[in-house]
Amino acid sequence: MTVDLARCLAEAYDIALPHRGQGKVADYIPALACVDPNHFGMALALPDGTMHVAGDADTPFSIQSVSKVFTLALALRRVGSSLWDSVGREPSGSAFNSIVQLETEHGIPRNPLINAGAIATTDRLIDGRDGDAVIEEILAFIRARAGDEGVDIDLDVAFSESETGARNRSLTHFMDAFGNLRHPVETTLGVYFRQCAIAMSCTQLAKAGLFLTMDGRDPRTGEQLVEPHRARRINAIMMLCGHYDNSGEFAFRVGLPGKSGVGGGILCIAPGQGSIAVWSPGLNEAGTSLVGAIALEHFAYAAGWSVFD
Ligand code: GLN
Repeated sequence: MTVDLARCLAEAYDIALPHRGQGKVADYIPALACVDPNHFGMALALPDGTMHVAGDADTPFSIQSVSKVFTLALALRRVGSSLWDSVGREPSGSAFNSIVQLETEHGIPRNPLINAGAIATTDRLIDGRDGDAVIEEILAFIRARAGDEGVDIDLDVAFSESETGARNRSLTHFMDAFGNLRHPVETTLGVYFRQCAIAMSCTQLAKAGLFLTMDGRDPRTGEQLVEPHRARRINAIMMLCGHYDNSGEFAFRVGLPGKSGVGGGILCIAPGQGSIAVWSPGLNEAGTSLVGAIALEHFAYAAGWSVFD
């Protein structure tokens, strides 16, 4: 029996809708504090180009840490396995912006999806280049995947994050002190803050994730963007680390690799099946969209999608 995915998405949206507005909007980045918590959108992209959407699927939001998936793919493509000299691939069990493990683990962050690890990954992606050129590469990659040249950086968010970025600066200086930074702190953070401030809609984000459902090949353009084993490993890291100290709970409830951002977006990958993006700004205590996680749990269940089937 074929599953009616449009109906699964609509049902998941309806089930999660009563929770809209719950959770807490990220306010440590002032430009995010004023986002209306009642937004809720979902988009499902399938490799054959089919899209299904619900709610505010075409409203751009700040993708924040979801950007870490794209910079991980680009860094692996650029520097290969040597990336793992700079960052590990173990779940941290700690908050996204935690510094505690960095001291005992000699400045090597646990994984590329916590802040310290994403900053180390971005530092490797820069690879001696000018920061603006790197941000252009990131944008070009995402625009090509989304099939939309309109994807851009929200400079107010980037500025706001830099202004209030004491915590990320601390992490970066700390790594620098251990010799795990190859560029000046502000060069690396200049790229990191801007990548986090990329604004995308659920529709654009779901399309942009499709290459990870297809073993690293963009089904729209046919390009092999990362090698198949690397795409699988990115999914493995998303599964284990994509939601910080909430990753186990997300894996338990949704059963698919995902990456959340404090803007309230989640990108979820169903290998071989499709890519789902959800957005609702109210966050749970670990910084994952509360409504988004409910919606994904119900969608995955209804569709029968799981990496454990
Ligand atoms: N830009 C945010 C930060 O560095 C990203 C955090 C997140 O989305 N979890 O704090």
